[in-house]
Formats: sequence, structure tokens, C-alpha cells
Amino acid sequence: MVGGRLGKVKDMNAPQLIPNWVDGIECETHDGRSFAKVNPADGSVLFSVARSQKTDMNFAVESARNSLPDWAAVPPVKRGLMLHDIVMHMIERKDEIAEVVHKETGKSMKDALGETGGAIECGLFYASEGQRLYGRTTTSSVANKYASTIRQPVGIAGLIIAANTPIANVAWKVFPALVCGNTAILKAAEDTPATAWMFGEIAHEAGLQAGVLNIMQGYGEEAGAPLVEHPDVGVISFTGSTEVGRLIQQKAGERLAKVSLELGGKNPLVVCDDADLDNAVKQVLLSAFSNAGQRCASGSRIIVFESIYDQFTKKLVERTNKLKVGIDDGHDLGPVINEQQLQNMLQAVKKAESDGARVLIGGKRFSGKGYKSGFYMAPTLIDNVKPKDEISRCELFGPIACLYKAKSYTQALKMANDSRYGLTACIHTKDFDRANHFIQHVQAGTVVVNAGTYGSEPHMPFGGLKQSGNSTREPGTEALDIYSELKNVYINVSSSVD
Ligand code: NAD
Ligand code: MN
Repeated sequence: MVGGRLGKVKDMNAPQLIPNWVDGIECETHDGRSFAKVNPADGSVLFSVARSQKTDMNFAVESARNSLPDWAAVPPVKRGLMLHDIVMHMIERKDEIAEVVHKETGKSMKDALGETGGAIECGLFYASEGQRLYGRTTTSSVANKYASTIRQPVGIAGLIIAANTPIANVAWKVFPALVCGNTAILKAAEDTPATAWMFGEIAHEAGLQAGVLNIMQGYGEEAGAPLVEHPDVGVISFTGSTEVGRLIQQKAGERLAKVSLELGGKNPLVVCDDADLDNAVKQVLLSAFSNAGQRCASGSRIIVFESIYDQFTKKLVERTNKLKVGIDDGHDLGPVINEQQLQNMLQAVKKAESDGARVLIGGKRFSGKGYKSGFYMAPTLIDNVKPKDEISRCELFGPIACLYKAKSYTQALKMANDSRYGLTACIHTKDFDRANHFIQHVQAGTVVVNAGTYGSEPHMPFGGLKQSGNSTREPGTEALDIYSELKNVYINVSSSVD
């Protein structure tokens, strides 16, 4: 157990060792092992983090198993009210949550506050779903027989998340899992441990019963994999890369566990010849570079009509050149999450260049004055690449976008769909028929007209086609189908009453 918590980290309400939350108690791992979490803004060590292993995950599953009967027996409306209390505590501590998000990710306080607001909105939505866990009542072919469905919890939910929007990612999974009556084990992203830990503290403070939500720190292979493989975990919900998602699907498939996968994207944004070019430029900048491009829904393939290509590209490069990189509210984007990710991006750009690509702007790391040893990737635009090139096909999860020329709408749509991913897509046009055709025919789980590739709201279903997922949708009411089992109920009565 963590005794004195070793004091708090400077400027941040987080302990120097980020512990697990198991059975309502903060604890270290069974062997006391930990790893260092590095500050993306300057490369310094922020704090250390419990490095959970299979043994620790087994404790967490045991805790979730023990608390399941009581939590599942709480009426859904009351479960919703409990979640509402958690949300109220989040509202009270909004600045503190945002501060932790800001410190762990290097995104500005303004962006961290926006993200926290989104997580709160998500919590409010699911808290109210406690009053609406609808089943279906219908007719029967037999007299005096009544057919209906009710929702029941799956059991223990294993939740595994990415680091890009840490508090939103926690909310997206924890709230729907709990309102449906499951108990949960959340495996935090190794790059954003403190946000998940703080959510655990808030849930505890708000009075959530011990063991209903267990929050575990650690690496994917060491802590995530044992959760996926545990025979008692009935549903796994995963947000992360396609490569890891595939592994999880295979592992969970062996025991036929329910799996929901929210995976990567290489999302197209089409700029037609009739688009409002200033709006298109603004939306491309946001889609490609906000959150340092670390969004599954970021726009990384910008497909522009040939007739406006030069004019559009010139404007876009000029505006990109004015973007400010840093961690303050006046900055447009911050660092990427870790050194490894940054190196992957630099290598991908180098490889593309050697294949004949043209770097229009960026392509390098920012370091030195103001940047220290932080993980700052310059906002990067690349053209002269072919749709078959590696840089056109692989998700980089950073502030890098490629530009492509299309001769016509038909060719643009074909290029947009030429991807193993199918998460989001966007078109900029004033032509309603063109927009509608795109809505109908683009292969994506989310389609946007005249804005960015990202920005899905918590009450709406998000998810991807092809290798962007396994066809499930979260959040929205659709997530309730992931976290509950439908029971088909037949009631037969006697017609003779006296
Ligand atoms: P990642 O797949 O490397 O890691 C995601 C999570 O999975 C982490 O918590 C990690 O510890 C864990 N993990 C890693 N290996 C594991 C294993 N073998 N078993 C169990 N868990 C394991 O992803 P990342 O690089 O951290 O995040 C970026 C990816 O996430 C991108 O591909 C991005 O598109 C995707 N993403 C998708 C969505 C969405 O909603 N579709 C949202 C955000 C991010
Ligand atoms: Mn990864």
C-alpha cells in the first residue's frame, strides 16, 4: 500500500508515485516496481508510476468480481445518480483535472479544459441513461404471452485506453460501463497515468462503492494483456492502434469474450473547387495539427481539386507557417506524447523524402530555446506523394498531413476510399448534391460537411469501418449495447381470473 504517497508533484495535484486503485484503496504493485513518466514539454521526469503485472491485474479482477453482485443489484436509476455525483465532483475539480491533463500531455490549459468539459458532458449523458436503459416490449404469436427484452450487465469490463485525450478517453468508457451495472478495470495509458488516477480519486470521493472501478497503471504487454486474457473479464473495450486491436481481438476471441475496438485512422479531407477556401484552410489546420495531430480522427490526407491546388496550398502553407508551437494558451499545438512517437514521425518523413516526396513545411523537430528537450514536431505538410506510398497509408498520429491532387470529385472520392482505414472523412463544398453523394459513398464511420475530420460528440456513436474498428460504436446510446446483455423475456399468464 502507498503509505505517505511520497508527497505531491510540484504545481500539480498528483502523488510522486502514481498508484493503482484496487478495491477502493490506492496501492503499489505487488513487487513495488515502477516506471518513469516523462514530461513531453521538456523531457524531464514528472513522476513514477506503478508498473502492474499479471499478479496485480488478478487482484483487480478479484476486486471487480467481488463487488459485481452488489453493484449490479443497484437499480439503474440509482447507478445513474451515483455517476451524477461523480460528475458533480469533476465539475468542482475541473481546473485540477485539466492541470493534470495539461502537464501529462503538454497540451495547453485551454485545450485541457475543453477536453475536461467534454468528459463532463459525457458523464452527464450516461448518468441520465440510468433512467432510460430501454428494452423493447412487443407482441407475441401466442395468446396470453408477452414478449420483451431487458438489459443486464455483461459482468466485468476491461477498459484499455490511449493517451491522446486522457480524461475524455476515461469518461467515454467508464460511464457507460458502470451505468449498465458492470464493474470495471481501467488500464490507464502509460503516457497519461495521473489523469486516470485522479478520476479514481474523484470516484472514491464521490462515494462510488469500493471495487466497482479499479484503475490500473502499467504497460500494454505487462498489464493490458493479462486483462484481455483473464477468463473472468466478459467485455473488453479498447481504444488504440489497429495493430494492438488485432491482437486483442484474437486473444479475446479464443474465449469468445465481447470486444469493442476503436482503432486508428488515416482520414481524408476533400477540398472541392467550389469550397469556401478560407474555411477549408482553417479546418485543415485544425484537423491536421490541433492536439499535435494526436487524434484518431485527425485529417492526414488532404485531397484538393487540381484547379485550386496551387492557390489552396499557398494559403495553407502561409497559415501553417504562422502556427505557434508550445504549451501555453496562445499556442496552437504542443509536443507529441513521447520521444519514440517523435522519432517514428521523423523517420517516416525522411523515408517519404527519399521516395521523392516534397516537404512543403516542417518535417523537423523543434528543440533548444523554449523547447528544451521536449517532443516538439514541427507542423508538417508534404506533397508529391502517391496514394500507394507508405506515408499515405500509415497512421503517424502526429502533426503531419499529405496533400494530393484530384482531377474531379469522382477521383477525389476514390482516393478518399483508398485506405485500409475508415474512421472519419470530411468534404468542403457548397454543392449539396456533391456533399450528399459523399455522405452516402465515403467509407467512414463519421462524415462531416464543411468542418473538420474530428469533433464527434459524446451522445453520438463513433466508430470505424474496415481496419478502424470491429464495427462497434461508442459512446452514444449505442455503447449501452456493448456493456449490456439483452435478455429476451416471455411472460405467460393465465386468462382465467375471478
Ligand atoms: P497503442 O495501441 O499502442 O496503446 C493503446 C493502449 O493499449 C495503451 O493503454 C497500451 O498500454 C495498451 N496496449 C498496448 N499493447 C497491448 C497489449 N498487447 N495488450 C493489451 N493492451 C495493450 O496506441 P497508442 O499508440 O498509445 O495510441 C494511438 C492509437 O490510438 C492510434 O492508432 C489512434 O488512432 C488510436 N486511437 C483511436 C481512437 C478511436 O476512438 N478510434 C481514439 C484515440 C486513439
Ligand atoms: Mn503505441
